[in-house]
Amino acid sequence: MQVTGTLQRDAWQRAEFPPVENVAPGVWSVPVPIIGNPLRYVLSYLIEHDDGFVMIDPGWNHPDSWQALTGGLAQCEIPLSAVTAVLVTHVHPDHHGQSGQVREHSGAWVGMHPAEDAFLERRGNQGLMRDGIQTYLRWCGAPPSHREELIASRQHVGQMAPMVRAERLIEHGDLVDVPGLRLRAVWTPGHTPGHLCFHDETRDLLLTGDHILPRITPNISFYDMASNPLDDYLGSLAKLHGLQPREVLPAHEYRFTDLDSRLDDLTEHHRERLAETLDIVARNGGGLTAWQIANGVTWSRAWADLASFQRQAAIGEVLSHLLQLQARGLVTEADVDGVGLWAAPAA
Ligand SMILES: [Zn+2]
Ligand SMILES: [Zn+2]
Repeated sequence: MQVTGTLQRDAWQRAEFPPVENVAPGVWSVPVPIIGNPLRYVLSYLIEHDDGFVMIDPGWNHPDSWQALTGGLAQCEIPLSAVTAVLVTHVHPDHHGQSGQVREHSGAWVGMHPAEDAFLERRGNQGLMRDGIQTYLRWCGAPPSHREELIASRQHVGQMAPMVRAERLIEHGDLVDVPGLRLRAVWTPGHTPGHLCFHDETRDLLLTGDHILPRITPNISFYDMASNPLDDYLGSLAKLHGLQPREVLPAHEYRFTDLDSRLDDLTEHHRERLAETLDIVARNGGGLTAWQIANGVTWSRAWADLASFQRQAAIGEVLSHLLQLQARGLVTEADVDGVGLWAAPAA
């Protein structure tokens, strides 16, 4: 992997904000701050077409973020009214939070994969979400203190402005409906069920959202018992293999080349974590909860130092690995009074 966004990486290392950049003819990146998040910013991209501009991932919903986005557009000499389409790689609030505001000020349509829109529909039902989270946390084996902390922080998240639903649904292989631009959607589920990458086929640039980042591995979590998100993710890594675009434009951190080597590293990371997770389960005959297993996994920081939302992400990560091991017949899960216990299969 070769870093090409060197200004972005230098800024990252100095803990500064990266500059607005003209990435290629007709393509700009505008960093938009994510308030209170160690990832610090989302890279919002603008691509010119015959009738205006496409905006991909408008960023986090906050007055400072709005100022950074509109200030960045002004620097690129792009009037907000010239944005005709807003695309989101996925509906996490650091990417999709400001889409509604952009739509309001520009009249642009908002497009995403149907699975992301379906998530927004479920998210609209707060009561259902709250009950679902309680049952889920209990099943994970999370102690009451963690459950209370997390619910409190979720309520805070729930107070944020609601995120807008899609006007247009974009499926795998679709060309985005704007004139004079070949921008093709590539469905890459795993980080979320409807995550999309976008391939600018004319310039051979791949916008990877959170699917592929140069430094960190995206969180692969739990959607529901019927899904296998890690299997989806590994399949989505394989799907991009051999594409080798001229440059990779991720939604965080910095641009780079040699996508294949990054795909190999990410695949290897999950292979190692699968082995570690299996080892923890196999060493304990009696059955462990996801919470207990997450305590035993090696994270980039000590378990005790993780905030409740980070622990929740870690539990989700452990579950996606357990589901993959279960699908391969290497672990089993049994529900005991609403608590999921994971064990090695009986010999
Ligand atoms: Zn995300
Ligand atoms: Zn993100």
